This record gives sequence, C-alpha cells and structure tokens, in this order.
Amino acid sequence: MVKGLCILGATGSIGVSTLDVVARHPDRYRVIALTGHRRIEALYRQCLQHRPRYAVVAERRDADDLQRRLREAGVKTEVLAGSDALAAVATLDEVDYVMAAIVGAAGLLPTLAAARAGKRILLANKEALVISGPLFMEAVRGAEAELLPIDSEHNAIFQCMPAGYRAGNPPAGVRRILLTASGGPFLDTPIDQLEGVTPEQAVAHPKWDMGRKISVDSATMMNKGLEVIEASLLFDLPPERIQVVIHPQSVIHSLVDYDDGSVLAELGNPDMRIPIAYGLAWPERIASGVDPLDLFEVARLDFRPPDLERFPCLKLAFEAARSGGTAPALLNAANEVAVAAFLVGRIPFTGIAATIARTLDAIPAGAAVDLDSVLAADARARAYASDLIAAAR
Ligand code: NAD
Ligand code: MG
Repeated sequence: MVKGLCILGATGSIGVSTLDVVARHPDRYRVIALTGHRRIEALYRQCLQHRPRYAVVAERRDADDLQRRLREAGVKTEVLAGSDALAAVATLDEVDYVMAAIVGAAGLLPTLAAARAGKRILLANKEALVISGPLFMEAVRGAEAELLPIDSEHNAIFQCMPAGYRAGNPPAGVRRILLTASGGPFLDTPIDQLEGVTPEQAVAHPKWDMGRKISVDSATMMNKGLEVIEASLLFDLPPERIQVVIHPQSVIHSLVDYDDGSVLAELGNPDMRIPIAYGLAWPERIASGVDPLDLFEVARLDFRPPDLERFPCLKLAFEAARSGGTAPALLNAANEVAVAAFLVGRIPFTGIAATIARTLDAIPAGAAVDLDSVLAADARARAYASDLIAAAR
C-alpha cells in the first residue's frame, strides 16, 4: 500500500535528501505535506515537483504569496501558516510516516504530536528527543508509534540490534554501544587557535554536508553529546554504557558490543540517504541512490578516544545525560542560543562551551515531570544564555 508522508523541515538538508529517496519510489510513497518555515523559494519548487496536499510556512504573508504562485502554476497545494499547522499536518489521517527534520527545539511539538497520533516517526530532529526525553518515549509507547532513528549513528545501532528490536526497550545481550564521531573540522587544530576560528571554518565539515547548526555542533562535538543522550533514550542504556570513538573516515556509522564479545557494525558511504531509505522501507530495503562502498578506496579505518579538553561540550553533555530530568533540556537550549550567537559573530567559538557551562551552573536541573516543566527549563536556559551573551558585549 502507498504510504502517505509528511516531511517537517522539507527544505533543509535532511528534507531534501528524503525527497530524493522518495522520488525514486513513487509506487511506495505519496507526499502529503511539506513544511519549509522561511525558505519559501525552495518550498515552492518542491511543491511544483511533489504536489503535496499541504505546505506549511511560518508567516501568513508568505503563505498567501506562495498560495497565489502555486495556483498560477496550476498546483492545488493548500498553504498553511504558523506553528500549530505543523502539528496539524503531522497528525492528518492520510499521513502514515512523519519525517521529523526541523532543526532544534522548534521541532518538538509537531514531533510529539505525531508520536501521540501513533505515526511512524523517522527521527532526525535529535533536539526534540533530547529535550523531552522519557516523556517522548512514553508518548511513543502509549500510542504504539513506530520510532525509527535517522541520525546515522543511531540508525546504524538500530540495524545492529537483535532481530525484532523496537526502540525504547533494553536490548538483550548488549554490553555497550560504541558511538562513532568524525571529530569535525577542528580535530587537529591547535587548541589555542580554537578561540579565533570563524563560522565558515566551523561549518565546513570534512565528511558530511549538513545544515549550519548541526555543522557547528559537530565542530564543538556537542552533536556527539546530544547523540549520547539520544542513544541512552532510544536504546534504554545508561550513559556509562555508551562510548564515543573518534573515527575520522566516517565509514563505520556506529557499533554494538554484545556480551559474548561479538561487535556488530554498520558501514557505508557518509550519505544520509542510507538511514533515510532504511527508515522509510523498514523492515524492507530499497534503493537509496548511494554509491556502493569501495573498501579499497577507503583503505584504512582509524580510531582514537575523544579529548575532553579540546571538546568541553562533550563533557557537559555526558554530565547532563547522567543528571537526567531537565538537565538535557537546559543543555540543549543554552547550546542553541550560543550556536546562533557564534554564527552571527557575537561570541567566539570557545564561547559556546563557556556559555553552556555557565548556564548549567546557574540553573539547577529539576524533574521532567511533564511537558510544561521541560518547556519552562528550555525557556529559562534560553533567557539566561541570551543575557550572558548580551552582557559580554
Ligand atoms: P537544516 O538547517 O538544513 O534544515 C532545517 C529545516 O527546519 C528547514 O526545512 C527549515 O526551514 C526548518 N526550520 C528551521 N527553523 C524552523 C522553525 N523555527 N520552525 C519550523 N521549521 C524550521 O538542518 P538539517 O541539517 O536538515 O538538520 C535537521 C535536523 O536533523 C536537525 O535536528 C539535525 O540535528 C538532524 N540531523 C541532520 C543530519 C544531516 O546530515 N543534516 C544528520 C543527522 C541529524
Ligand atoms: Mg549523527
């Protein structure tokens, strides 16, 4: 049966890769809704090609303009505006699968709504899970939603889990998870030069082509820190059983170490269409458009432990993972504010970790009893981090 698809964040890096895979399989997927926030031109072109029933943007005025242009082009897509419309399209009856590919906390409410509606969720938006943690996993269980990790590491781990494994359950016979990391563009930059690196240097990732926010997160290794939290929730393991391994070639996307000493890994070219195709077709396999892996070209695979002095964000994230409660939400919010400030040149690269550390020192983590408590923690950390940055100028 043809599956109806909603892509939250269709105009971003993950969204574009998802549409690339979907366009190879018109017999399997029908695009029902695309959301594009402020990237109106890109969304217009996607609507021309994929003819979704709905498109969602941030502002009413943009929605009206886009609606008019689509009508003139003979496209019947209905254009909606605002954040409530995101949750509305993610929970439509004709939507079976929801690709959660908005960046940051903005993706939380529509992704949670999709989970509560029992959809198959292809989860790229790791921040949504990091912020809401056990609440999100409860929503998935409560509505019997299918949660398929799209983050390449978590997708690799999921693929290496015992047959029949479903996210959110403790995996039988697993000793630990080995989470690989490329180390980003500053793996070998002298530490005293990190203060002066520019946003353009930070977003130039050696292996993956991604949005700007996650590219900066990769450069600080906060991305890996968020992924430790993500993995501990998805695979129900404490952070002590998750080891970060720097693997600059990005060919092994992560590994699972079993009690009997077997270590299973998933390998492939660094291209997000692999986990996206896997999540769309699971438990089947479909073509993704990715070239076969050429091991002779790869030639060698290197591994080394992460240096926590170089990457203080990773240390902060492990601490937040151990604290639990609202600590991951505080960490994530301070990071989002700091990364945005770095990208516009308001703080230096090293100011990102410093801002997060000071925010976490100032605001005590509490219990994440409900959605309101995590949203309040998120708001408080954002306000505190913003004030710190403003005061430093
Ligand atoms: P991106 O910046 O390229 O795209 C973000 C998308 O979200 C765009 O469609 C944008 O219009 C939309 N958006 C931005 N702000 C919004 C808001 N306030 N409200 C609604 N929509 C908004 O980002 P990306 O690289 O595609 O990453 C998306 C998510 O996937 C992130 O959470 C990232 O961590 C995760 N992820 C990305 C990759 C990758 O290779 N790009 C890999 C793993 C995980
Ligand atoms: Mg990843």
